[in-house]
Amino acid sequence: MGTHHRTCPLCEAMCGLEIETEGLQVTRVRGDRADVWSKGFLCPKGASIGQLHHDPDRLREPMVRDGDGWREVTWDEAFARCEELLRPVVAEHGIGAVTAYLGNPNVHNYSLSRFSGAVPGFGGIPVLWSAGTVDQWPKNLVCAQLFGGAWKIPIADVANTDLLVVMGANPQASNGSLLSYPDLIGEVTRIRERGGRTIVVDPRRTGTAEKADEWLPIVPGTDAALLLAVVSVLDDEGLVRLGPVAGRVLGVDEVLAAARDFPPEAVAVWCGIDAERIRGLARELAGTERAVIYGRIGLCNQEFGTLATWLVSVVNVLTGHFDAEGGERFPRPAIATMSSTARRRGPITTGRWRTRVRGAPEVMGQAPLSCLAEEIDTPGEGQIKALITIAGNPALSAPDAGRLDAALPLLDAMISIDNYLNETSRHAHVILPGLSPLEQPHCDEELWAYALRGVARWSPAIFDADDRPEEWEIALRLGAILGGTPAAEVDVDALDDLWFAARAARHGVDPASVDHEGRRGPDRIADLTLRTGPWGEGYGARPDGLTLERLKDHPHGIDHGPSTSAIDDVLRTTSGDIELAHPVFLDDLARLQQRMGEPRPPLVLIGRRHVRSNNSWMHNLPGLMRGRDRSTLLVHPDDAAERGLASGDEATVTSESGSVVATVEVSDELCRGVVSLPHGFGHRRPGTRTAVADERPGPNTNVLVPGHRVDVPSGNAAVNGVPVEVAAAPA
Ligand code: SF4
Repeated sequence: MGTHHRTCPLCEAMCGLEIETEGLQVTRVRGDRADVWSKGFLCPKGASIGQLHHDPDRLREPMVRDGDGWREVTWDEAFARCEELLRPVVAEHGIGAVTAYLGNPNVHNYSLSRFSGAVPGFGGIPVLWSAGTVDQWPKNLVCAQLFGGAWKIPIADVANTDLLVVMGANPQASNGSLLSYPDLIGEVTRIRERGGRTIVVDPRRTGTAEKADEWLPIVPGTDAALLLAVVSVLDDEGLVRLGPVAGRVLGVDEVLAAARDFPPEAVAVWCGIDAERIRGLARELAGTERAVIYGRIGLCNQEFGTLATWLVSVVNVLTGHFDAEGGERFPRPAIATMSSTARRRGPITTGRWRTRVRGAPEVMGQAPLSCLAEEIDTPGEGQIKALITIAGNPALSAPDAGRLDAALPLLDAMISIDNYLNETSRHAHVILPGLSPLEQPHCDEELWAYALRGVARWSPAIFDADDRPEEWEIALRLGAILGGTPAAEVDVDALDDLWFAARAARHGVDPASVDHEGRRGPDRIADLTLRTGPWGEGYGARPDGLTLERLKDHPHGIDHGPSTSAIDDVLRTTSGDIELAHPVFLDDLARLQQRMGEPRPPLVLIGRRHVRSNNSWMHNLPGLMRGRDRSTLLVHPDDAAERGLASGDEATVTSESGSVVATVEVSDELCRGVVSLPHGFGHRRPGTRTAVADERPGPNTNVLVPGHRVDVPSGNAAVNGVPVEVAAAPA
């Protein structure tokens, strides 16, 4: 029997868990009350981590396709098969015919978060695809333009705010996103207890809205117009004050001038929010000493995602709540992250290359994920012939998912680094499974850059992985094979040294001077980033500072307290100031105005998430799937009555790109004219091995998202606000 303390790797909240085991069995999971960060908080997903480890469907051995079935093979055989598949593609079509897709779990995995880049890095893959253009690319674009770095992301200081305005986020289900904070929904109560308020702006009365002081129902996709109207009121009523960033903001006049075209009266009907309430919101934001707007995924993945995301920071800046207590602030994480090592750079350029088929411009190296299917299924020079998926399930999560699902079998080679035989990996020729979260250590890196406390925590593996490789070794071997090294000759240690040297250089450390003390792989990088962080040992510069070995002595973590960065330490714009106005934003206002002049579709689809779900990756855990069906189509009572639908009926949902059948749940949670499906469903596909998920397959909402529907400046998928028709399904 044993009690283990470790970080939950399942979401950005990074809760500390207390896991009890008996032999090789997890017997109980609780929140770790002694954890310096989460103090005992956990959600149902974290409590199910034992089920994830014990899941009989989780793959333990590599598999190669054998006719219509699969054959478990040794790791050497698996990599030899990868070589056999990839080598002819590269020889015949060049490395440009090979690509990789990186899914969201990459960020949460000890190995992959530090090593998934080794696959394209050593392989020489020129173009990558990721979940980033489905859920957050507008945020990265906005930060690149305003602050000089795509990962220089300011964080809402929810612990100190007295007015929290939540837009496009539902912490009750998802905790925070690009905002690491345990028990974020609990903060809504704590804000009220300290005399403050929380307002949720959302087309659905979410779990967060239920707990908030006010719900402002908004028409999907109109958040940018609402925020422009708020800016126009600030201007009109002389409420603009820059507070701590006065003298450090360029472009204020241009932004105010642009917003004058969007007074509350001009947007009220379109947004579905009364003009006087919009004025009140602006006054409340301007008049509250500590206030912040927190905007997230629901703002990013709509038609005007960049504008909406940009305007969140614009309003925070113009109301004096940027770089201020209780406002939006830059973190100073204990672990040196990507953003902390970013070099000074000029303005971001886009469109350095365009996709072959649609001609979509790249934005910071990424093209819309919805282009991937056409790049595979459209013949011609440059056609993608080989795909490596790394911890992702794009057959469910990519827009126009039906087309991608049909395109994947056309590939000459497909390799999936994945722990499941799921809707995507079922098309692969080789599956390379990683370890369970409990079979490997854990130490988050990038996620601490979304927290405003200087916390660090490292967790050892609980169970022995025997001789199975960790994902970082898989990534290095696969990258080397792709780069031309024969599978049998790959020297993982030599590659690991190279990978570490490149990372060390980013932190200004000479790798030759480092005593590795036997560390390899992610351990060595974790030690590097701890030592070079603000409390780090600095390779001798601060002898008492933080190292990985010292952190190991603190199983409940180390908390250095509130930790923020001065803007001078963060801003990397050409001017050195916050560059609020930029053509990429201002030019897009005409598109918004044009849309406002068009008739509104009678019914639009939005997504949602439940606290027991995290995209598609935990739908095979009985503890999370039990209870009522959560893949239902939510329909407003009036919309349901109009179509003769009642709860429990089957309905066909049709969009321009596809059609699914869903079970109706009539609910007044929604605004009239809005229906909602959760994402991540669409299971029970032939060839998958996910017995629990298959019991409640649900519809794949991404089949309904047309691939061309993107936020133009960022290329991010506009999965929210999709026009649909709903009708009773044929018997
Ligand atoms: S909120 Fe839940 S899933 Fe997220 S880290 Fe905490 S326990 Fe894990």
